[in-house]
Amino acid sequence: MEGLEGTLAGVRETFESGRTRSIAWRKSQLKAMIEFVQDNEEKIFKSLDQDLGKHPVEAYRDEIGVVAKSAKHALSCVQKWMTPKKGNLPLLFFPASAQVMPEPFGVVLIMGSWNFPISLTLDPLIGAISAGNAVILKPSELSPTCASFLAETIPKYLDPNAIKVIEGGIDVCHQLLQQKWDKIFFTGSQRVGRIVMTAAAQHLTPVTLELGGKCPAILDSISNPNNMKVIAKRIVGAKWGSCSGQACIAIDYVLVEEKFASCLIDSLRKTMKRFYGESPRESKSICKIGNETNFKRLLNLLKDPLVQASIVHGGSVDEETMFIEPTILLNPPLDSQIMTEEIFGPLLPIITLDNIQESIEFINSKPKPLAIYAFTKDETFKKQILSKTSSGSVTFNDTLVQFICDSLPFGGVGQSGFGRYHGKYSFDSFSHEKAILQRGFFPELEPRYPPWNNFKLQF
Ligand code: NAD
Repeated sequence: MEGLEGTLAGVRETFESGRTRSIAWRKSQLKAMIEFVQDNEEKIFKSLDQDLGKHPVEAYRDEIGVVAKSAKHALSCVQKWMTPKKGNLPLLFFPASAQVMPEPFGVVLIMGSWNFPISLTLDPLIGAISAGNAVILKPSELSPTCASFLAETIPKYLDPNAIKVIEGGIDVCHQLLQQKWDKIFFTGSQRVGRIVMTAAAQHLTPVTLELGGKCPAILDSISNPNNMKVIAKRIVGAKWGSCSGQACIAIDYVLVEEKFASCLIDSLRKTMKRFYGESPRESKSICKIGNETNFKRLLNLLKDPLVQASIVHGGSVDEETMFIEPTILLNPPLDSQIMTEEIFGPLLPIITLDNIQESIEFINSKPKPLAIYAFTKDETFKKQILSKTSSGSVTFNDTLVQFICDSLPFGGVGQSGFGRYHGKYSFDSFSHEKAILQRGFFPELEPRYPPWNNFKLQF
């Protein structure tokens, strides 16, 4: 363990030298990040294919493109973000001035996840660099090719004394979590989120937890067949089109009125055939199940005979290649694991309701989700969804796109996590906002000092 402690001490020494605070260092690292993704596009494609069977188009959209966009945005804004902001003071303080000055936390730990092993590791790093921190990156061991690629390549581009990549599994995570950090940014499950938060509590370290949950999609009436085509594409895209449903903001289940269910299923089937052909197993456009643990967990969700009986599309499994066919289930039991746990894979339950208004109560009967999607043109219903439910985000009439908006905060609420990032929110997530108040020595207000008397009370 001396190695890890030595590494951490070296990174802390770099931070304490003050080097990472300068605008020049921040900009040079952000430029290097842009070069890193541009120079290594092919290697990143290969690593993502190896770990997840991710097609280069999907890899560009969800990983390389996300990192390049974030780094460019941060590069153009970092000077503005780090400039202290003037604070307004009441007249009582006159003469005085106030400022809010962002300062870096110090040495931060970023723990990435395996489903988007490049973007969900490097996107937080962009925020940490912009804010002037030194960083230890811990990529997920469950995407080993990407983890090794990052460990080998990042030091060739970014300041190796301030930014280090540490590879390893759960034991290494435990060792890392025993150290004292100035901030921990974790992406992963609620289970490990609790472990991270417990460890952080020992040192009163602030944490951001980007967790998961069951993200519902609400489908209001289907008035126009053309809308239905678009809706089906967006639902299929948000279930199978981004890491095969192994995404924290993937649609977990769909709520629809009973009378529209067959039309929805029909449209989804047609769309899936267009996207993945007659045999999705042969398709290069769908990611594989990322690891054996997730595969076994998904098989377990399908094991229940009542869940099996609810399959209306797909359902076949190949244990040898860890393939699970894109699967639609109609009304699986609400107390089955598939409806009580986050699915995180290519299985889509459709739950029918008598009236779509019941969707609000349904969502509120479960922990607060990371995202809610609602396909509706009814402005009153939209307002009800916004005011009567709580979630990390609400997206009307589309899916997943909220993730790539730098102007919107990304993060959970309740059990889907806390803290937020993206764009300026990433900078804020890795900064302490220091309050600065400056006064002169005159005038002096004597009633603020003892000895107390009734005259001072009236003042
Ligand atoms: P996970 O929590 O099982 O693992 C995350 C990392 O934590 C692992 O890579 C491992 O290094 C470490 N870890 C695992 N067990 C540990 C332990 N006992 N002690 C210490 N460290 C440990 O999550 P996962 O399987 O990698 O990802 C799936 C989960 O992540 C899903 O719930 C998903 O919704 C969530 N997720 C959230 C976001 C988001 O941005 N909110 C993004 C991607 C994934």
